[in-house]
Amino acid sequence: LTILGIESSCDDSAAAVVRRTEGRATVLSSVVRGQTALHAQFGGVVPEIAARAHAEVLDHCVEAALGEAGLALSDLDGIAVTAGPGLIGGVLSGVMLAKGLSAATGLPLIGVNHLAGHALTPRLTDGFCFPYLMLLVSGGHCQFLVVEGEDRFRRLGGTIDDAPGEAFDKTARLLGLPQPGGPAVEIEARQGDADRIALPRPLLDRPGCDMSFSGLKTALLRARDAEMAAAGGLTRAARADLAAAFQKAVVEILREKTRRALALYLEMSPDRPAFAVAGGVAANGPIRAALTALCAEAGVEFAAPPLALCTDNAAMIAHAGLARLAAGEADGLDLSARPRWPLDGEAAPMIGSGR
Ligand code: ATP
Ligand code: FE
Repeated sequence: LTILGIESSCDDSAAAVVRRTEGRATVLSSVVRGQTALHAQFGGVVPEIAARAHAEVLDHCVEAALGEAGLALSDLDGIAVTAGPGLIGGVLSGVMLAKGLSAATGLPLIGVNHLAGHALTPRLTDGFCFPYLMLLVSGGHCQFLVVEGEDRFRRLGGTIDDAPGEAFDKTARLLGLPQPGGPAVEIEARQGDADRIALPRPLLDRPGCDMSFSGLKTALLRARDAEMAAAGGLTRAARADLAAAFQKAVVEILREKTRRALALYLEMSPDRPAFAVAGGVAANGPIRAALTALCAEAGVEFAAPPLALCTDNAAMIAHAGLARLAAGEADGLDLSARPRWPLDGEAAPMIGSGR
């Protein structure tokens, strides 16, 4: 089975071709066109600009993905597309393109949940078996999921406010470091003393796996202002110490909450316990190191998919669509785009339903 995937839920336009032979899926091509430069001057993703950019480049992404795979539309068995959750204008751009391609070719159309795409990736990259524990941690998300089946997810907890990636980006802005903030803060933190400035670890002593990062952001702002008032400006040393203190707080929160999530997951007594982390923040060295150590202690297999498949991409969408395609399922041309679409709950109102 060969399937095309299309992704446009945030600020990356992407298309990919994935093929499954004898139960094993292989990525034949994966094209991602980011929009970072388009949004840079606004300090965040502007939904209208994102939607327009997706509409402009998505068909080129599809052409490039087919070209790299050396295939034509007629070689495909189906078309998978992110149908949510995400910025609705962008999701609609992808859904409309996929509907057009499906109507023109007669190929089955499969709407995929973007979060399911992320959550199922360790099966593609590391051959994970159900059930496994997943921490999805990015600019827009932070949640623990037990992945029990292609379409069965149990959410153990997650952030009650901001995502860590957003907090890294905000920290970088406060410290005068470039965007995206994560890599810049990580590099800056290497020069700093993580213990000189005390920052809070919100919700750390509460039971459960829920997390909070907005209080940490505010505390960092106050600490920066105090440092600046004391020295008449932000010194090099203070900037590094603040970055290090912030990163240490995030590492500790993620480590402790992962420890609790692992305990809950292990109660399900999986045959081959496994944990994976995905999302842009999973690129962070100290975070990966902390989670690797935790899993080693608990005797749990640990995986972090390669970064290109960890951040937004269409290969994960194609891969997630394969199971439904193989089962002979498909959506009609009335497939809706959903701005909200929790993996384990009631589906929220749909937009763009009907023809
Ligand atoms: P989502 O996929 O949830 O809709 P997104 O597109 O922002 O959101 P990703 O592309 O997966 O998510 O990740 C981007 C985020 O990852 C940014 O906030 C960025 O700062 C963060 N990030 C990238 N590298 C690092 C790093 N080395 N350390 C910490 N954070 C990082
Ligand atoms: Fe994503």
